[in-house]
Amino acid sequence: MAEIEREAMEYDVVIVGAGPAGLSAAIRLKQLDADLQVVVLEKGSEVGAHILSGAVLDPCGLNALIPDWKEKGAPLNVEVKEDNFLMLGEAGQVRIPNFPMPPLMNNHGNYIVSMGNVCRWMAEQAEEMGVEIFPGMACSELVYGDNGEVKGVVAGEFGKNPDGTPGPAYEPGMELHGKYVFLSEGVRGSLSKEVIAKYGLSDGKEPQKYGVGMKEIWEIDPAKHKEGTVTHTMGWPLGSNAGGGSFIYHLDNNQVYVGFVVHLNYKNPHLFPYMEFQRFKHHPVVADLLKGGKRVAYGARAITEGGWQSMPKLVAPGVALLGCSAGMVNVPRIKGNHNAMLSGKAAAEAAFDAIKAERSGDELTAYEADVRDGAIGKDLKMVRNVKPMWSKWGLTASLALGGLDMWTNNLFGFSFFGTLGHGKNDAQSTEEASKHKPIDYPKPDGVLSFDRLTNVSFSMTNHEESQPCHLRLGNEDTPISVNLPKFAEPAQRYCPAGVYEVVEKDGKPEFVVNFQNCVHCKTCDIKDPSQNITWTTPQGGDGPNYPNM
Ligand SMILES: Cc1cc2nc3c(=O)[nH]c(=O)nc-3n(C[C@H](O)[C@H](O)[C@H](O)COP(=O)(O)OP(=O)(O)OC[C@H]3O[C@@H](n4cnc5c(N)ncnc54)[C@H](O)[C@@H]3O)c2cc1C
Repeated sequence: MAEIEREAMEYDVVIVGAGPAGLSAAIRLKQLDADLQVVVLEKGSEVGAHILSGAVLDPCGLNALIPDWKEKGAPLNVEVKEDNFLMLGEAGQVRIPNFPMPPLMNNHGNYIVSMGNVCRWMAEQAEEMGVEIFPGMACSELVYGDNGEVKGVVAGEFGKNPDGTPGPAYEPGMELHGKYVFLSEGVRGSLSKEVIAKYGLSDGKEPQKYGVGMKEIWEIDPAKHKEGTVTHTMGWPLGSNAGGGSFIYHLDNNQVYVGFVVHLNYKNPHLFPYMEFQRFKHHPVVADLLKGGKRVAYGARAITEGGWQSMPKLVAPGVALLGCSAGMVNVPRIKGNHNAMLSGKAAAEAAFDAIKAERSGDELTAYEADVRDGAIGKDLKMVRNVKPMWSKWGLTASLALGGLDMWTNNLFGFSFFGTLGHGKNDAQSTEEASKHKPIDYPKPDGVLSFDRLTNVSFSMTNHEESQPCHLRLGNEDTPISVNLPKFAEPAQRYCPAGVYEVVEKDGKPEFVVNFQNCVHCKTCDIKDPSQNITWTTPQGGDGPNYPNM
């Protein structure tokens, strides 16, 4: 294709992604200097459309950014009142008391929120301050300057044919240039991945680790609804097959977030994370709660789990990684929104100082220092051994040792274990199918549990069909020639949206990619054992349309 000519617009800071990290950065920049030119680009059809985290929010990030958020009407309406932790067996459960847990695990003072709605509110605040926010604009490429620095992004390219050539309604999009570019794409961001590889930002770090999180919103019988109740579970149905667990958060209006996370370092390629989630809802404790209710929404998204030791270097010339683009989730707390906000604030402060000093296109080292030496580093360092303990020693031992480790870190800033490594990445953890038994999953009953495609329709995901498939195979043959015989092609199961199928055509197996179903969770980019799938951005506005996830 001939070189594409695009118009360019100049800004002080270009921000990719309107999640809590990107929006916090935009708000802080304008707080510091109302004259700064700041733009936020979001691939979802509106702000919040791709935000999955129906969350327990630690308000420390928001307190630091907008101390009067209550007066300004932030949608933090449900304070946590009750905090339960259950260990499930197939038919029963044991409640783990709260007192042996370190204080950081306590949810009192936190809020059950729709992060989609929090982001919508943050976007309103940002726009009132003069930030330009463009939803429906996927950033598909980075633009580099003469000295190899990141100087901008390409956004808003529409109308390509399936083969990548310009179609009849082709629009080339624009280049948006900034003195600094902030990548706040969330977990496994596609541009962030390019930047991490190009500048070697993960050199010397542990591999990033992930889980896949699936979530449904249920409207339940008002008699069973207990606003402000948070319940986490571990154990059944995953047992020793994989790490992970569930969350059940009672928000307002008789709604409950029911979610399930499976750590992606599982070995058995027959494991089917989505079906584990469906099976979990048949546990008596969950089934009793949901009976008589209805599921009103479904979604899925990967979550970063590598923590402190996996966090890449955060800056390269002209660019900074914010929030979960760099993996800032505190894993035992299943919380990353507070750190995403704090990182946005810190990046904005570093960029403001740099711009004031007439710098541009260099490394914002002050941001890196703030994250590592400040509140985010403290939060992540304290829990750094929990995930490697889970992976190495399993659930029971890691609960005891991880608890002890969090206590010693909390009380004395000290760990008996130093900093444990993660070893392999999640793709490498997958073992050959012949070493494992297939798992027999019960058929969904259509009342408590649902088949994948029915549930995907509750994510309201949509992709224009006449565009190139955004899930790129490095080698078209690998799924059938390598993954199928060796790993029983696990893409058929690890994808929570049923994008990948192996069908029979003319007596031969064929790999089919139903990219229209994709909910942008990025699990395939992470877990494919051959690392043959690359997730790229489809055209803007496509993907899920989450209401208030
Ligand atoms: C199942 C699950 C449950 C969780 N529960 C909690 C919880 O209870 N509490 C908590 O604090 N945290 C929770 N988290 C973690 C939390 O979701 C993340 O830490 C947080 O979303 C990170 O914020 P972010 O701004 O970095 O990224 P995101 O919130 O992911 O936002 C990124 C935004 O960038 C957009 N984007 C990405 N790429 C591009 C591109 N190329 N062009 C344009 N736009 C782009 C996306 O559409 C998205 O809107 C949970 C995560 C999962 C998956």
